[in-house]
Amino acid sequence: MTRLLHRTTRSTPRLAVAARGITIEDSEGRSYIDACGGAAVSCLGHGHPDVLAALHRQADSLAYAHTGFFTTEAAEALGARLVADAPEGIGHAYLVSGGSEAVEAALKLARQYFTERGEPQRRHVIARRQSYHGNTLGALAAGGNEWRRAQFRPLLIETHHIAPCFAYREQHEGESAADYAARAAGELEAKIAELGAENVLAFVAEPVVGATAGAVPPVGDYFKRIREICDRHGVLLILDEVMCGMGRTGTLHACEQEGIAPDLMTVAKGLGGGYQPIGAVLLSQKIYDAIAGGSGFFQHGHTYMGHPMAAAAALAVQEVIARDNLLENVREMGAHLRARLEEVLGDHPKVGDIRGRGLFQGIELVADRATKAPFDPDLKLHARIKAQAMGQGLMCYPMGGTIDGQRGDHVLLAPPFIVTRDDVDEIVARLAKAIDLALAELP
Ligand code: PLP
Repeated sequence: MTRLLHRTTRSTPRLAVAARGITIEDSEGRSYIDACGGAAVSCLGHGHPDVLAALHRQADSLAYAHTGFFTTEAAEALGARLVADAPEGIGHAYLVSGGSEAVEAALKLARQYFTERGEPQRRHVIARRQSYHGNTLGALAAGGNEWRRAQFRPLLIETHHIAPCFAYREQHEGESAADYAARAAGELEAKIAELGAENVLAFVAEPVVGATAGAVPPVGDYFKRIREICDRHGVLLILDEVMCGMGRTGTLHACEQEGIAPDLMTVAKGLGGGYQPIGAVLLSQKIYDAIAGGSGFFQHGHTYMGHPMAAAAALAVQEVIARDNLLENVREMGAHLRARLEEVLGDHPKVGDIRGRGLFQGIELVADRATKAPFDPDLKLHARIKAQAMGQGLMCYPMGGTIDGQRGDHVLLAPPFIVTRDDVDEIVARLAKAIDLALAELP
């Protein structure tokens, strides 16, 4: 019997024993195409020799040094690289061990920015429904996934949620993309007015929504409007690119495609590609300056922040992506993946929507295409698809998101940046089969 508390107590997961390229193998000799990078993590695939070599070199020279005493070459080089490639205005990077830690640190940086500036009344965080920002208490409070939050609500800081920008679910019949973007962004303006602009700290959003909604991109100039509203009210804009960032959508940062820059940005998953746990907050120079010109001390910290092994892995991952021009492959293979999904699943009677950017694509399943009615959540269609896909030797990431109290099922695909056309064709063929097998199980 396992002595680990796994995600479920009902079963023990398969034992993974090896992984190379885009496949993972279990202890029974079965192999699985990793078409979701776990949860959009393994951007370089598995066992990349250059990353393994960098890890060996780092372990040989220095495996750990506490940041209360030292900085390290690996951490400094990664910080420099992240800032050099960052959106305009970003001046510094803060290295942590994952996505939730990055979101916690971003929220605290936002708060400290205002306390340093003598605006301690700014305390309200606004985020969006159908979003996920992590499972630690601050990040969970920011997220809009009711299923994850419900039992922990008494422990969560008060946050305020507005509608996501989710065209398939929320754009009205006959409403133009521009009008819908204005209406969705207008919710932020209204919420700020309701709370009093002088009391609002930050607005948090994923540029392309990942786990809770299945690769939902924004529409029109939604984020330009959001940026303008935040600026007008002195509210900080935190973009959570933990899942959609670091090249996943075809540009290094997803917000580049929106033509805006955040005040704070969180990255993780694809930063280290799964070779080490690592995340980062990218912060604007003005936030750094407020702290440097005030207390000079960011009142936060973790034992493993700036870990040199994690930094060395992330540096190697990012160097390989740049050297091998893999973002070009993300764009090309992303377009091919989308085209194949449309060809194979576009007319499927239970596929309501196919969406996404780059190698970050989502498929939403519906009981009725005309009404967009989701499947009964008790049927757990997403779990059935996951199980059937594993039976087909395919790892994909199905979830049941929350749609204003109703749950809908979707599948997220986020294959490694090294996929080929043949890999993509095989992924789509196996997924289509898994979806049909799962639907055939329904009563
Ligand atoms: N933010 C987003 C957008 C995420 O998708 C996730 C994880 O899925 C997190 C934050 C939390 O990251 P982690 O699981 O590394 O704590």
